[in-house]
Amino acid sequence: MEGSERIGGRVYTHRFGTAHDAPYAELGAMRIPSSHELTMRYVKKLGLESALRPFRTILSDDNNYVTTGKGFVRVKDAAAPLLADLHGLLPAARRASYKEHTLLFGAWLTALVRAVAPAELRDNLASELTTLLPLADDTDLTPYVHGVRADRLHLGPVFRDHPGLRAGCSPRLCGFLDDLLLETDTDLMCLSGGMSRIVDRLAERLRAPVLMGHEVVTLHAERDRAGVELRVGGRELTRAFSAVLCTLPFSVLRGMALTGIDDDKREVISSVEYGAATKVALHCRDAFWEADGTRGGASATGGRARQTYYPPCEGDPAKGATLLGSYAIAEDADLLGRFPAQVRHAAAVEELSLLYPQLKEPGAVLDAASIAWAGNRWSNGCTSRRWRWGRDAGRCADEMRRAARPQGRLFFAGEHCSATPAWINGAIESALTAVTEIDEALKGAR
Ligand SMILES: Cc1cc2nc3c(=O)[nH]c(=O)nc-3n(C[C@H](O)[C@H](O)[C@H](O)COP(=O)(O)OP(=O)(O)OC[C@H]3O[C@@H](n4cnc5c(N)ncnc54)[C@H](O)[C@@H]3O)c2cc1C
Repeated sequence: MEGSERIGGRVYTHRFGTAHDAPYAELGAMRIPSSHELTMRYVKKLGLESALRPFRTILSDDNNYVTTGKGFVRVKDAAAPLLADLHGLLPAARRASYKEHTLLFGAWLTALVRAVAPAELRDNLASELTTLLPLADDTDLTPYVHGVRADRLHLGPVFRDHPGLRAGCSPRLCGFLDDLLLETDTDLMCLSGGMSRIVDRLAERLRAPVLMGHEVVTLHAERDRAGVELRVGGRELTRAFSAVLCTLPFSVLRGMALTGIDDDKREVISSVEYGAATKVALHCRDAFWEADGTRGGASATGGRARQTYYPPCEGDPAKGATLLGSYAIAEDADLLGRFPAQVRHAAAVEELSLLYPQLKEPGAVLDAASIAWAGNRWSNGCTSRRWRWGRDAGRCADEMRRAARPQGRLFFAGEHCSATPAWINGAIESALTAVTEIDEALKGAR
């Protein structure tokens, strides 16, 4: 039962046109870490393995741009201005005492946090560095230095190989590092043709069709059955089942009337935090950034737009190309999300035109599409990721167990009920667990 008129939820490939090779943009999930074994397993199961392509992430291309005190600078030339920016953040007495590689570590970490993290973490960076850099100074960073000028640093492996470095981070930054390092990993994949292909293939395999436009408005948990009240085309319907699996985000569920739910479950449903995210995709007449030397990856454009991705141009160039002009989270997304779509699109174009004046040429932007996940009534937020930032592993495991715990014959799944919240992998993981539990419960009843 799907409340909206589209299947896929937060996996959402928007297509600019109906042709099979129309340019598209990922307004929801866009990359699959190779380590996400369940997502990869389903990609293979659904016959999509040959569509897997490397996903080039933020600042991964030498020609991507990063915002520095000197303005936009290519990644390949960014080390010197980033080091100069870092100097400005550190007390003069301290900066002279750090080793060269420690400063490089600080400069690239600052660039990444500024590119991807919420404003709160960006603003706190100077104090984070005061405790983090002395620890980095005691670490041999030589094996992680790379680039023709030996002025780049592989941050993911540094943190993986030296877990003690995290001791220098605040709990908030520490929690965010997992996502930051995963999102900027070199081992990410995407799907040629769009992530929604996973959803479409899965739907084809279902024994019964997904019932679209079936909005769940109330759930009743009972010992040996579960009831669902629905709104379908303005009519109210009530259904009872021997078991129900609820995958609604808790941000939606907490607005509903629920019966048969115990106090602990109500508490966890109401307390899981959801972050905001916005994406603005621009359908451009041509991939002008390629003429400029950029063949993929993403720029840290900063401002309100935050991150700008250059998806691969797969189809007929005559149909144009997609630029994911803006990907923002947290406070920045709250702001962009408040704008009506047209204003949001214009704001993204205006800001990006400082870097790409071509966007202002007549006919350069053919169309735009965007989403503000916090204002989307079917998810009321981006993902549940914020609830675990700053919490230890034991507490996260406990919250996951509480979120997934069934109530009578009402079972729960979704990214928020998993050990990998905020990722597709988590949604699959929790669904597989819940299905086993349902099987057991129904077997026991027979
Ligand atoms: C901007 C963004 C970027 C992301 N990037 C990545 C990424 O790169 N890689 C990755 O792995 N993950 C990513 N994710 C996370 C990933 O998309 C989610 O973790 C995953 O899709 C969640 O699946 P789910 O089934 O838990 O929830 P959803 O996909 O949200 O499914 C819930 C479904 O319930 C429906 N629904 C809601 N309310 C009702 C109602 N009242 N009645 C009936 N139906 C209802 C919704 O329409 C939706 O179809 C991203 C998410 C966002 C928003």
